[in-house]
Amino acid sequence: MPSMAYFVYKRKNMSKSIQKILIQESLSREDIICLLKADEKERTLIFEKAAQIKTKYLGDIVYFRGLIEYSNICSKNCYYCGIRSGNKKMMLYELPEEDVFEAAKYAYEEGYGSLVIQAGEISSKKFIKKITHLLQKIKAMSNGELGITLSLGEQTEETFQTWFNAGAHRYLLRIEASDRELYSKLHPNNKVHDFDFRLHSLKLLRKIGYQVGTGVMIGLPFQTIENLADDLLFMRDLDIDMCGMGPYIEHEHTPLYEYKNQLMSKRERFVLSLKMIAILRILMKDINIAASTAMQTLDVAGREKAIKVGANIVMPNLTPLKYRDSYLLYEDKPCIDEEASECNNCLEARIKIAGATIGYNEWGDSEHFKERKK
Ligand code: SAH
Ligand code: SF4
Repeated sequence: MPSMAYFVYKRKNMSKSIQKILIQESLSREDIICLLKADEKERTLIFEKAAQIKTKYLGDIVYFRGLIEYSNICSKNCYYCGIRSGNKKMMLYELPEEDVFEAAKYAYEEGYGSLVIQAGEISSKKFIKKITHLLQKIKAMSNGELGITLSLGEQTEETFQTWFNAGAHRYLLRIEASDRELYSKLHPNNKVHDFDFRLHSLKLLRKIGYQVGTGVMIGLPFQTIENLADDLLFMRDLDIDMCGMGPYIEHEHTPLYEYKNQLMSKRERFVLSLKMIAILRILMKDINIAASTAMQTLDVAGREKAIKVGANIVMPNLTPLKYRDSYLLYEDKPCIDEEASECNNCLEARIKIAGATIGYNEWGDSEHFKERKK
């Protein structure tokens, strides 16, 4: 049995190595793994470094994207997701056009600057047309001033182009897990859940001219720390403009629920998500990183904590209340019974407490994207 002195010695050396890693110009896979494994004391060093980088490259401004959960109807059957087509235990909805428009107007009037329209994945002609029409209408209503991010899953190049032409300029499509083997354990093994097609979609989005966002879930069953390090490298190598990532949260009516006893505690998943955000900020200094709703689910101050360690985007939920409890991607989703205006007041105060200011009436585009375009 090694002596206590040995452990103290080892701990000290480990901290030193974290410090050493943090002053390097670039990080290797091993370095990232070491950072992901940092203990409570060591991780504050990582968080501080990430906060410094954010301030240096982006200032302390947080941008809002009003989130509209347009529909919970989905043609896919991802094993982790509460709104998968195989879950028959929910009321299906698609927001009436007036409700989307109303939410968009609210965002515009409150000076949010941008919207995110998210939904289950549908590729019918009717759906494509409806989204195109909504984009055009929202753009016209706001004199082109509201920026629009879409998160509507994989689509054809033609559809991506149609929506781009109609006014969407950012697209969020999480790779979910960048390791093929892990991906295959999270999805049915068929053509509509093909890893390569998802990757291809990300490349199409870039080609068309979107600001491209991706991300992963953190703390998934079967996922290793090495997988997460590779996820970060995947995002760096793809040279993404934006990232939305957060903890995996189990949902009772999904196949992965069976593995709930193998998961890390929710607290551990939350802390690991903070580390992922901070390390990504260190790796990709000027991209936009969202403080995800799932962070808030696991910790009431989750989004503010994410902002403190490198995130710069928040997505207040503007989905009309009566539909919110039908868009349950996972358990215990927050704000399912708060009006947008109440949420807004509380969020503004919380963000100020986190030491940031809100960039009202601005798109808050990815600086990384702007740099690449120069
Ligand atoms: N259908 C689109 C967008 C809606 S789903 C798409 O899949 O791209 C939005 C995100 O919710 C997904 O990318 C996934 O990462 C996240 N999500 C789904 N189920 C989740 C769960 N159980 N825990 C955490 N995030 C989840
Ligand atoms: Fe559908 Fe997206 Fe959920 Fe998969 S993650 S089931 S594509 S809504």
